[in-house]
Amino acid sequence: MRVLIVGGGVMGCAAALALRERGVRTLLLERAVPGAEASSAAAGILGGQCESRGPGPLADALLASRAKYAEWVTNLVSRTAIDVGYRVCGVLRVGDDASAQDDMTVEWQTKAGLRVEVLSGARAREIEPALSPEIKRATYFPDDGQVDPPRLLRALMTACVKADVEIRSGTTVERLSIESGRCVGVEANAERISSDAVVLAAGSWSSLVPGWPSGVPRVIPARGQMVLLDERAPRARTIVFHKSIYVVPRGDGRVVLGSTLEFAGYRKEVTAGGVAGILAGAIDAMPSLSSAELSATWSNFRPYVECAMPLVGASETPGLFLATGHHRNGILLAPWTADRVVASMGL
Ligand SMILES: Cc1cc2nc3c(=O)[nH]c(=O)nc-3n(C[C@H](O)[C@H](O)[C@H](O)COP(=O)(O)OP(=O)(O)OC[C@H]3O[C@@H](n4cnc5c(N)ncnc54)[C@H](O)[C@@H]3O)c2cc1C
Repeated sequence: MRVLIVGGGVMGCAAALALRERGVRTLLLERAVPGAEASSAAAGILGGQCESRGPGPLADALLASRAKYAEWVTNLVSRTAIDVGYRVCGVLRVGDDASAQDDMTVEWQTKAGLRVEVLSGARAREIEPALSPEIKRATYFPDDGQVDPPRLLRALMTACVKADVEIRSGTTVERLSIESGRCVGVEANAERISSDAVVLAAGSWSSLVPGWPSGVPRVIPARGQMVLLDERAPRARTIVFHKSIYVVPRGDGRVVLGSTLEFAGYRKEVTAGGVAGILAGAIDAMPSLSSAELSATWSNFRPYVECAMPLVGASETPGLFLATGHHRNGILLAPWTADRVVASMGL
């Protein structure tokens, strides 16, 4: 069996590796540099609980993927010797209003047997001493964690190469080849490439590829802007969500701040207003960040779909499988997605 993968982000690489591990011949086609888009731009929060506002299939997927993460990254590290920065560091969602409650989340997660706690400001500051004295309460998810996305993508790519996944960079897939209603390969760089199955994992560009099934919602780019600070010496240590902003300390002085959520088409700008809002929210939660060096800014596109779940598995077109639409949780959902793609092919 030969499978073509379109797109070399976290989804394409994770699916390629999982298929190769089952002995499938796998060719990954990437128009530019593998890992260079959303997957390396992400904050890398593994928010199985902080991203699950209510029970349902999405929460099940987020929690299943989080449960698999340690084993998944251990396999990657053993194959590549690349430290991917995986840590179960916990997440605090903080508020400066003691009456602001997260009761529904706490209630269903407690009933589901998950560890979650409502904390006073003082108790939250014991966990994260860099929090502002203005923080009056927090919800604590001790089992959520993080990974360092650029390192994760480097490890995934290295593991794919070592496992003999064939990778063609600089190869733009121009269309899916559909014959008698079945996907039989792709056309790329004016060449016809045949396969038994195609996995479309082109992130925010997925539904731009001609041949995208007509009955499936389109994938829309949801821009997120990011800021990198450098703290010397490192002070922040726990992931903190404050209003729409988050702070992700890597533990070595680097602190990633995010983010905006904008429907601005494919405009990859970092804007003055975007950065100002991110910095204001982060410094409000952790005032000591104001003296950190601002070392970088960037933006990229979350693959957003107007449905409750990402688009993963067999599509309505025989031979065509989807691994896209993961919006703000694609780094977390990578192991779950790889498993689903493999299972949907009956492997
Ligand atoms: C700012 C930001 C912060 C985020 N933070 C988090 C987080 O903390 N935790 C989390 O779990 N998730 C996070 N995410 C979401 C996560 O990054 C995405 O869901 C995930 O990376 C999507 O992976 P992907 O492989 O589908 O897309 P991408 O990484 O965008 O990869 C798609 C690839 O397909 C290629 N491609 C496109 N069209 C073609 C074509 N025609 N032919 C060949 N190749 C093509 C592109 O060049 C690209 O390399 C964040 C995203 C952003 C933007």
